[in-house]
Amino acid sequence: MEAVQNEKDGATRGESTRGQISIHTENIFPIIKKFLYSDHEIFLRELVSNAVDATQKLRQLASFGEFGGELGDLKVTVSLNEEAKTITVSDNGIGMTADEIKKYINQIAFSGATEFLEKYKDKTDDKGAIIGHFGLGFYSAFMVAEKVEIVTKSYREGANGADQSGARWVCDGSTEFELTPADRAERGTDVILHIAPDSEEFLNKGRLRGILDKYARFLPVSIEFDGEVVNNTTPIWTKAPSDLSDEDYKTFYRELYPMSEEPLFWIHLNVDYPFNLTGILYFPRVKNELRFQREKIQLYSRQVFITDEVKDVVPDFLMMLHGVIDSPDIPLNVSRSFLQADANVKKINGYITRKVADKLSDLFKADRKAFEEKFDDIGLFIKYGALSDEKFWEKAKSFVLLKNTEGTYYTFDEYREQYQVNQTDKNDTLVILYATDRKQQDAYIESARRRGYDVVLFDNVIDPHFINSIEYKLEKTTFKRVDADTLDKLVDKGLNSESVLSEDDRTKLKELFEQVLDSKALTVSVEAQPTDELPVTITQPEFLRRMKDMSTLAGEQSFYGNLPMNYNVVVNANHPLAGKILATESEDTRKALIKQVYDLALLSQNMLSGADLTAFVRRTVETL
Ligand code: ADP
Repeated sequence: MEAVQNEKDGATRGESTRGQISIHTENIFPIIKKFLYSDHEIFLRELVSNAVDATQKLRQLASFGEFGGELGDLKVTVSLNEEAKTITVSDNGIGMTADEIKKYINQIAFSGATEFLEKYKDKTDDKGAIIGHFGLGFYSAFMVAEKVEIVTKSYREGANGADQSGARWVCDGSTEFELTPADRAERGTDVILHIAPDSEEFLNKGRLRGILDKYARFLPVSIEFDGEVVNNTTPIWTKAPSDLSDEDYKTFYRELYPMSEEPLFWIHLNVDYPFNLTGILYFPRVKNELRFQREKIQLYSRQVFITDEVKDVVPDFLMMLHGVIDSPDIPLNVSRSFLQADANVKKINGYITRKVADKLSDLFKADRKAFEEKFDDIGLFIKYGALSDEKFWEKAKSFVLLKNTEGTYYTFDEYREQYQVNQTDKNDTLVILYATDRKQQDAYIESARRRGYDVVLFDNVIDPHFINSIEYKLEKTTFKRVDADTLDKLVDKGLNSESVLSEDDRTKLKELFEQVLDSKALTVSVEAQPTDELPVTITQPEFLRRMKDMSTLAGEQSFYGNLPMNYNVVVNANHPLAGKILATESEDTRKALIKQVYDLALLSQNMLSGADLTAFVRRTVETL
C-alpha cells in the first residue's frame, strides 16, 4: 500500500508543533468518485477512448508489420443490460495479458491516483479535467460503478495457438483486486461496469446514447450502441481541403448544428508545426447582435470531444464563430490557469487569428462584391477583432469597410481618397461624419448631404467601441456624429459664412432664446448658416455623448453616465425667421415664435413627445 506524506504547517495558527497527515490509497476511491470530475458521465468517454486507443494501437502494429493476424472489423461496442445493471464497453483491439493488467491497470493507476492526491491535496475544489494526465481514465469507472470487471485477451496470446486463455480482473472499489485466467476466444477487451445504486440514471438507453452523441460522435473507430453505429469516423476536418466540396462543408455544418442557418463561409485550419491543429471554423450569420451563443466551437483531441468551453484557446473576438478545433497539443487535462499560460495555447491563438485575417483578406480581394454583401454579417467580428487585437487590426485595416447612407462601401483608404478634398478640416484631418440611427438623424443626414458632405452609417452594437478605438489608430482622422455640431463646425475649414445680422442683433437673439427656453441643460448660440438650413438646430457635444453612450453600453454607473446630457441650441442667424423674431413687437407672439422653432428642431430629431408634442400640435393648428 502506498501512502502520501503530507506535511502540514501548524505555524499558521502560531503553534510550534508540526503535524503529519498521511493519505492512503485506500482513500482514493471516494475521492475519485467525488472530485475527479464534476460530470460523472465522463466515465463513458474515458472507457470508449481507451477502447478506441486499443484498436488504433493494433492497427498501427499491423502497419509496422508487428501484427500478422487478421485485423478484422475494428470496432468498439457499448452495451447496456438493464436487468443485470451493467454497462459494457467492448473492443477488439490489442487486449492485455495478465502482466499488462498488473502493470497498466494496477500499478499505473494506483501511482497515478497517488500523484493526483498529492497534487490536489490542497485544492480538491479544482474539478478540472485532470484524468488522462495522471493515467486515471480507467478509474473514472468507479464514479458510477460499485464493481468493475475486465475480461481481456492480448493480441499476442492465441495468435500462434500457444495460449488460449485471457485474463479477468475484478475490483470492487477497494484497493484489493482479483486477477484470474479467463476463457476468452477473441482478442480484445470487455470492461463491465456494475453500476452503483446512486448512478442508476446511467442504466438508460437514451441517456447513454446522449453521452455517446456528445463525446463519441467523431471518434475514428466505429462505435456501436444498440446495434447502431453512433459516430462518423472520418469527419471532414480530418480530410484534405482539396478533397472537399462546398456542399461537404455545409453538410458537416448541419451535422454539427442542425438548427442553424447556413453559414456564410468557413476556414479549414491545418497546421502541423510548431503544434498540431486541424479544424474548421464557420462564420455564422449574426447580424447586429451579440447574442448568447448556443452553438459553440467544439474542441476535440484526436477526435474525442473535450469541451465547448474554448475560451482560452480561441481569441475572444472569434468566440462567435462555429465549428471544431482538434488538437492533441492543447493540454486539456490540466486546470484553466495552466491553459492560459501555456505556450502552445498562445501560439494556437495567434495562428487562428492570422488564418482568419488572411481568409477575410482573400475573400475581399477575390470577390469584392460578395464581401460587401457579407459585410453586414461579418462586420461585427472584424470590428471586434480590430479593436481587441493589434495584429488583426494591422491586416483588417485594409478590408474593414465603411458604408455610407447611400449604401456604398469604402475601405478607409478609399474613403480618404474620395472625400479628403471636401471633408478635411483646417488641421488637415479627415472628418468622417457618421449617423448611428438613420431614421432619427435623418434631418441632419439630409442637411449634410445637401451641403455635399458624405455620411457613413455606424449602427452596429460594436460601432461606438470601434470608433473610439480606431480614431487613435488611424492617422489624421476624426469621427463626428452628424448631430455633434452644426456642419460648419463639424468640418471646420476656418471659414465663416457671412452674417446678415449685426453683432448686437445676434446677442439680442441669443438672450431672447435663453429667456424663453430657460434651461441649464441648454446652451444657446447664434451662428451664421445658409438660409436653407433650419432656423434652429439642436446638437450634442461629440465627446460627452460618446462617453455617455459607452457607459450606457457597458451598463455601468460612471461619472459620464451620470452627467446630464447637454444640448446646444443653435439659432441660424441667416434664416428669415431670425429676423422676424427680432422684429416682432408683441412679447407673446415673439415667445410663441421662439417656442415654435425650437419645438420644430426637437421634432426633426424625434425629441418631442408627450405633453410637449400635444401642445405643439395644438399651437400649430391654432396658428393655421
Ligand atoms: P490512460 O488512458 O490515461 O493511459 P487509463 O487509466 O485510462 O490511463 O488506462 C491505463 C492503461 O490501461 C492504458 O494506457 C492502456 O495501456 C490500458 N488499457 C486501458 N483500457 C484498455 C483497453 N480497452 N484495451 C487495452 N488496454 C487498455
